[in-house]
Amino acid sequence: MIVRKVIDPYIAYLEEKRNHLMARRESKLEILREGGERALLHSRHDITRIDFALLRIDKKQYGLCPDCGCEIEEARLTSVPETVFCASCQSDRDKKNKHFRH
Ligand SMILES: [Zn+2]
Repeated sequence: MIVRKVIDPYIAYLEEKRNHLMARRESKLEILREGGERALLHSRHDITRIDFALLRIDKKQYGLCPDCGCEIEEARLTSVPETVFCASCQSDRDKKNKHFRH
């Protein structure tokens, strides 16, 4: 169930950003030249996040945090539409992920 009234702007934004990233991915060499292997990995990660957000929209669960089930703050969705977790779950994840970073 979707609580948010208008998600069309988010869908438009996400699809546009996805197209942009896909176009960049096609020129992998360009990305490698610009930012090295890490930049390439990062770009792949962005697409995964966007795909996940679009999937959540598809399932009409966009705007709900899959970890705790609460509604994600409107301001957060507006500034980072590809976010799927609420602020507190995201920061928990960031803390955990830090262990895998160099
Ligand atoms: Zn949450």
